[in-house]
Amino acid sequence: MADRCLHFTGTAPGRFLTRRLGLPQPAPLRRWSPQTPSLDGPLLHLTAGDSAVTEELGALLTATGPVVTARAERPAGMVVDTTAVDTPRGLADVHAVLHPVIRSLAPGGRVVVVGVRPSADDHHQAAAQQALEGFVRSLGKEIGRGATVQLLRVAPDALASAGSTLRFLLSPRSAYVSGQVIELTSAAPDPVADWEVPLAGRTALVTGAARGIGASVASVLARDGARVVCLDIPQAKDELARTADRLGAAALPLGITADDAAERIAATAPGGLDVLVHNADITRDRRFANMPADRWASVVDVNLDSVLRTTDALLKAGTVRRGGRIVATASIAGIAGNNGQTNYAAGKAGIIGLVRSLAPRAAADHGVTVNAVAPGFIETKMTAAVPLFIREAGRRMNSLAQGGLPVDVAETTAWFAQPSSTAVNGQIVRVYGQSLLGA
Ligand code: NAD
Repeated sequence: MADRCLHFTGTAPGRFLTRRLGLPQPAPLRRWSPQTPSLDGPLLHLTAGDSAVTEELGALLTATGPVVTARAERPAGMVVDTTAVDTPRGLADVHAVLHPVIRSLAPGGRVVVVGVRPSADDHHQAAAQQALEGFVRSLGKEIGRGATVQLLRVAPDALASAGSTLRFLLSPRSAYVSGQVIELTSAAPDPVADWEVPLAGRTALVTGAARGIGASVASVLARDGARVVCLDIPQAKDELARTADRLGAAALPLGITADDAAERIAATAPGGLDVLVHNADITRDRRFANMPADRWASVVDVNLDSVLRTTDALLKAGTVRRGGRIVATASIAGIAGNNGQTNYAAGKAGIIGLVRSLAPRAAADHGVTVNAVAPGFIETKMTAAVPLFIREAGRRMNSLAQGGLPVDVAETTAWFAQPSSTAVNGQIVRVYGQSLLGA
């Protein structure tokens, strides 16, 4: 069901009324379109303290669009270099550079704080860098007007690996991603010939792609130049064929829990896969006290076990090629839990365990990255069926005061999938507008 409140608050009477009643005022988000491929305005490059990477960061930012270092009237983004902040006193420098300008950020703007990993050997540095996490998550909750705030941790000698991530975070593609802490490894990125079609020449397979978020992922990967294979259960083969036809993709009607699923996937992509997106899921909700074993088992099988089985088999067989990307779909339910979803939340939390454990080994042994998206409330058929009161609570209880769209999950997946995202590994990125309570 459409979010009528979002449309209403976009009108003058709607704004007036919701303000008077103290209701949430969601700002319409500006997402990617061919007409709005990038942020509408300059980036303000700010530096806290004596950074050793000012020039390098400046060059990276310049590649994403116009950059200013003095004040700009209405910057569309602000990047704060905090790599030199290694004591709590250094946090005053962050305040000194950002506080005077924060109000000038354009509606729907972006703030990216670039920091480093908290040190295991220097607890003063660790305290200062960890402090930035609390700062960023709080600023995300109060900034409003559709703006987002993230913390990007990158080793100073590995800044070159941050290009694809800075481009994503400083673009309309990340409209529903806020309050995230993203940590990059120091892996060298693959060069990108054309940022318009970064997946040109790559082959991607998306499970559960007949409809919903999976269909949107397939569409965005195809937009970015990939040859796409859409997989879904044989019972959904008509819808699958329609989706695949629309995208010029191949269709693979196959239940992902089938014993021979990995072999069938490999046979469909004889040249191998560069991107594997585990998106298929089922829900069989019941409170745990009423949960029969078959409902428990089927959800864990589709949502977790089949992901483990196919990932293992496709990596072992080399079907996911070197330089490949595996993206799994977790859920906020797997992080925060959800009433009536013990089976689903267990499966989704299991995905997070899989990603964290496999990512370093997959990179070392196969040259493949493994990451997960964790969607929050996304406007789909599933969430439209949720009772009104719970649906409204789910939609509004985030910093952006609205639900996300399937394309928001798809854009995050496409950033993970890029050849230049080699340094993005083992990350769980929440696409949830940042929950108002909790992280
Ligand atoms: P959906 O139910 O609309 O689509 C899931 C697709 O998976 C369907 O096309 C279905 O036929 C397919 N599928 C089911 N079992 C399969 C199997 N055994 N083999 C192959 N395909 C199978 O779901 P959605 O809302 O688009 O969600 C997509 C993903 O995002 C899921 O992993 C879901 O858990 C996750 N997610 C969604 C939300 C949300 O708000 N919609 C929130 C958090 C996480």
